[in-house]
Amino acid sequence: MLRKGVRRVIGDGRATGIWDDPWVPSEMPTTLTRPKFLTFTAEYVCDLLVEDGSRWDEDRLGVLFDEDIRQRILSIPIDVDLGRDRWSWDLDRSGQYTVKMGYRNAMMETWGQFSLGLDIDEEATTRFWKRLWKLPIISRYKVFLWRACRGILPTVESLEERGMDIDELCIMCNNAHEDVFHALIDCPELQLMWVNANFDYSSRLYHANILEWLVVEAGGWKDEQMAFLAVAVYHAWERRNKKKFANEIIKVEELWPRVERMMEEIQVAAFTDARNVMELPKVKWEKPEYPFMKLNVDAAGSKSGGGAMGGLLRNSTGCCDGVFTSCVRFPSDPILLEAMSIKKGLELAKLKNCTHVLVECDSRLVVDMLHTPCDQASSLNAICKDILRFTTTMIPEESLSRKVCDMSKASGDWTTIEAIKPPSPEDTFTGAVKVNGFAVLLRNWAKVSSSFAEIRGILNALHNHMAWSINMRRIIIESDSLQATKTITE
Ligand SMILES: [Zn+2]
Repeated sequence: MLRKGVRRVIGDGRATGIWDDPWVPSEMPTTLTRPKFLTFTAEYVCDLLVEDGSRWDEDRLGVLFDEDIRQRILSIPIDVDLGRDRWSWDLDRSGQYTVKMGYRNAMMETWGQFSLGLDIDEEATTRFWKRLWKLPIISRYKVFLWRACRGILPTVESLEERGMDIDELCIMCNNAHEDVFHALIDCPELQLMWVNANFDYSSRLYHANILEWLVVEAGGWKDEQMAFLAVAVYHAWERRNKKKFANEIIKVEELWPRVERMMEEIQVAAFTDARNVMELPKVKWEKPEYPFMKLNVDAAGSKSGGGAMGGLLRNSTGCCDGVFTSCVRFPSDPILLEAMSIKKGLELAKLKNCTHVLVECDSRLVVDMLHTPCDQASSLNAICKDILRFTTTMIPEESLSRKVCDMSKASGDWTTIEAIKPPSPEDTFTGAVKVNGFAVLLRNWAKVSSSFAEIRGILNALHNHMAWSINMRRIIIESDSLQATKTITE
């Protein structure tokens, strides 16, 4: 029964069975089907990584899995710093009650002072309030979590307690009495949010009251986990109200990404004050100064899932030294795709032995995120951390003292990311990020009109002509969404 409710989060991949554990990102936890014959050892997820564990072994993935699974796997950034794989607990609805009670009984000794009821340790509660008010998020979320803990929300139950005669079930699941814990935590219609979370909130299963849950279980959490929770319950309540009062449906699978995006914006805001973000007066592509190469990337999500991305690498004379395009079936979030396109572009730059690269993309959030330590547990953080880590591999290894990126230097309207290394300026890698519009750039460059769909068409077209990407000087673009054929010269 417990087995059914868990899924795997990948660290070094050594303790996760490829065929036995539900580790591939998907809407619902699933395991992979083992092929009848294996031509090589593939038992643990680490067997799907290259030897040093730094990235996926794409050849192996290609042999073992269909394109959909392959893309899903490739969407998992490898974080060698994360250490061991860990379990994350999905809800097993049928077993929920039993698990809750079983755990309570087992933990009674440990909890000691806590009873099954609500008279939880007063000192621990005071500590919890103090901690709540210090969380690094705007007060709207803190106040909301405080109200949720105190039970001060106009749920059906609380309105009935105040003497209103409402004979309603939970608006989301239509199957249970709505109290605060149900509405914000326990409703079956919410469980996918907790499953998708980057934190282990599984201890919620053993409680029936938010304050009790947090006072008893959250002592071991990082503040970050608590902050995410505050934002998550806020969004859960907002979703409930939208359905109840505006009949607007927000899909449960959209909830955690919304929480992440909100946290990312808060995170970035903490680092961008000094950078004095301003819109560029004009968006015009300019040649990079020698010895820099300039990488322009763009990406677009597809309604049917996944997305496309592409980019160009050009030198100080403006000549194109390489292009890449890529389609993925997962994820489809444009922000994540933008970040992935930067990573792919840097891989191309490394292939071309670039050590000085300027990156331009049109996602401010990604750019700003790259200037933070990227130390939160969100998908965008993981990809950005991966990017920063990758930039350090572009420096000759013998001269690299630490794989650390500093992101503080501002100059004009763009900012550099420099790897910290011994003083030898000529081989210092500098990845710089500047907000720009690749859509506009492509239009100028290719002299074709570029709506969103057309850009995607161009990217798809480039994708089919990947072989040209090296030393490309002339390219003909054809795409299904844009009947345009242009010859582009240097
Ligand atoms: Zn419900």
